[in-house]
Amino acid sequence: MRHISLDENGELNKWLTSRYGRKDIRKIAEDIAHDLLLATKQVKPPIDLSPICSFRHIKEILSPALKSDARLLVRDNGFLIQISKQFQTRRRFTLAHEIAHTYFYDLETSKPKRMFFGSKPNEEEQFCDILASEIVMPSFMIQEEFSKVLRKNPNISPLVILEQLAQTFRVSDEAMARRITEDLNLLHGVILNVRWLPSTKQDINSQPNNYDWRLHWWAASLDIVEQLYLPLASKRPKLDMSSLESIYNNRQPAKLNIQISEVKIGNLKKIVTQFNPGLNSLDIWVYPIIPDGIQLGSVINGKGVTDIEEQTRQQSEINLFFPTNNM
Ligand SMILES: [Zn+2]
Repeated sequence: MRHISLDENGELNKWLTSRYGRKDIRKIAEDIAHDLLLATKQVKPPIDLSPICSFRHIKEILSPALKSDARLLVRDNGFLIQISKQFQTRRRFTLAHEIAHTYFYDLETSKPKRMFFGSKPNEEEQFCDILASEIVMPSFMIQEEFSKVLRKNPNISPLVILEQLAQTFRVSDEAMARRITEDLNLLHGVILNVRWLPSTKQDINSQPNNYDWRLHWWAASLDIVEQLYLPLASKRPKLDMSSLESIYNNRQPAKLNIQISEVKIGNLKKIVTQFNPGLNSLDIWVYPIIPDGIQLGSVINGKGVTDIEEQTRQQSEINLFFPTNNM
């Protein structure tokens, strides 16, 4: 599971606790983000990262060719951030992650001085992800916006809420999906993002039949995450019937009744289908419709996928929401 599993007695936790006087890592991240918003006088989304960068002594942000997403470099008078070219929404999260790294330095000296020397770099990375989420999607603001959207339209669908919040906070659907399911438990269910992709990166130029609908990312609320088995063995698992069945490999399958309530994509037809625990089967049919209205084929069930133009491939992305009412 991707869930944050920072060791309560680990070096990082001890260091943060001694510094911020709290034990709960998430609360510490909330405090830090809250102070940042106060210092930069920000009260509503989207969070502007420029004043936060200045506040944290980040003097320059460059986009050279990079092997990793980004890195933070110490300079005589502050920091330099190198960040790879990315979609704007993802870039904001990456930048916030690098801002989070500055909290491991003493900024009192003109040249920032490293204060924390943990032996598990992964712990620091996890904390920086938590803090980055808190900076670009502050808990209290998300909760406020979530209620506001619901108040305006009580019948709004979960995927529309996701889309609206992602836009309001200028983050990716993926980051927002995790935030409102896993972190804040505002949506109860599973969000799957499936995309029309080749089986591996090397397959980019391969025959169209090596393309398929593959799970790109997923997010699930904590109430079900323990019971969730997703096909995570490969980076882009092919979504066939058996792997989707395993998603809901619940300990009490008889009680499970999951409905795929909707699909979001401009050029895909809406689908509604049902997982049948008695028959242990799941049928999902999606019909990609290209702009001139020609129906290209059925997908996800692994049958009869015909070629789709490159342009359409780029757009072939679906978010699916599986509510969990009775778990
Ligand atoms: Zn990092």
